[in-house]
Amino acid sequence: MSTAAGSSAPMGCNHGAEAIPAQTDIAIIGGGPGGLACAQRLAAAGAQVLVLERKTSFGRKVCAGGITCHGMLHLVPQEVIERVFPVQHICSPRQRIRLEEPQPIIATVNRERLGTWMAGQAQAAGARLCTGAQVMALTDTGLVVRNATGRVQELRCGHVVGADGARSLVRRTLGLSSRLSIGLNTMLPVEREQMEWHLHPRLFASGYAWIFPHATTTSLGAFSDARLMNAKRLQTHVSLWAAQQGIENRESGVPSLQAGWVNYDYQGLCFGRRWLVGDAAGLSSALTGEGIYPAVLSGRAVAAMILASQSGRTGQSFSPELEALLKRQRQHRRVAAMAGQGLLASALLAELFLLLLRLRAIDFHRLEMASVAPTWTLSEES
Ligand SMILES: Cc1cc2nc3c(=O)[nH]c(=O)nc-3n(C[C@H](O)[C@H](O)[C@H](O)COP(=O)(O)OP(=O)(O)OC[C@H]3O[C@@H](n4cnc5c(N)ncnc54)[C@H](O)[C@@H]3O)c2cc1C
Repeated sequence: MSTAAGSSAPMGCNHGAEAIPAQTDIAIIGGGPGGLACAQRLAAAGAQVLVLERKTSFGRKVCAGGITCHGMLHLVPQEVIERVFPVQHICSPRQRIRLEEPQPIIATVNRERLGTWMAGQAQAAGARLCTGAQVMALTDTGLVVRNATGRVQELRCGHVVGADGARSLVRRTLGLSSRLSIGLNTMLPVEREQMEWHLHPRLFASGYAWIFPHATTTSLGAFSDARLMNAKRLQTHVSLWAAQQGIENRESGVPSLQAGWVNYDYQGLCFGRRWLVGDAAGLSSALTGEGIYPAVLSGRAVAAMILASQSGRTGQSFSPELEALLKRQRQHRRVAAMAGQGLLASALLAELFLLLLRLRAIDFHRLEMASVAPTWTLSEES
């Protein structure tokens, strides 16, 4: 496995203690993977950039932490990776298959360590990072921000990047609709060996449940289109399914699931001097919920477009990687829409998918949002 990233900042360094300035050229709202990738690239090119993150640290997120072979696996350092899996186990009500490849297909990462590492890369490149900084509103000249002490202040800025996740304030301010999937996750204090995907339309509609082992814990959860399943029903179904799998934790009772959203309604990245990245841009997969790689790739793309606009270059086209991501995103959305037609449609598609995988008529990598390995890193100088 190749892991490109060198660490130019220590994993545990203290990010975000900065005070919020009165003005900056570029303000990035949200310090998830999209915002931090955007900040790193902008700062490495010499731009004045400030990241505003409402949480008190970087990386904490309701997430299974799965990263795929063609995307993030090439981009993160070894210390962020928890486990790698050359074998995948996929089941439906009627089939159970085991897929094996010589190279890892998927790995798991610790989101807090990924966030800390990416914040270190952005800071090392020269970005300013503020935690405990919640953006309350967008104005004609910039932003209204509440800082960690509760003080509300104005921040003047030229460009605003909305990297603020699936329920993005920037997206809402732009008047754009969203299409959301709901995900539930818990990190169980147990060690499991197999990475498993469970397609079970009666329980998860067009979505699926997963068991993704980490180093000393296991991510267990499920994902479904929010139009087909609400959080409460999904929670009941996950608990039922977990008990069927023998995963119920007798000591702590039913796993305590945390809910999060992904947005898959892509409508563009550039809206004048306002930009959208990652989940705010609706770039996650409607089929799998994969969103870390799309966030990072779109963060870098938006950085390149802002740099181009600052130097007077306009009409820039998207990179082949971004075009490939958008194509894959549309394909996933189409399949998810077909599976979302009803129980019969999702059951037939699930069984057909497993059959085609078993016959090797379809490649599991088509589930990945990246179709080619990146030729860049997240820690280069420019
Ligand atoms: C249950 C679940 C499991 C998932 N599993 C996977 C997986 O295995 N693999 C994968 O690739 N993807 C997974 N995803 C999706 C993935 O987590 C997201 O797509 C990804 O984190 C998106 O990155 P982002 O930078 O766009 O947004 P986020 O990571 O959501 O970051 C947005 C940041 O903005 C901050 N913010 C929001 N509003 C404001 C504001 N007003 N002011 C300041 N800060 C603000 C938030 O605190 C947050 O830190 C999962 C999602 C869920 C819900």
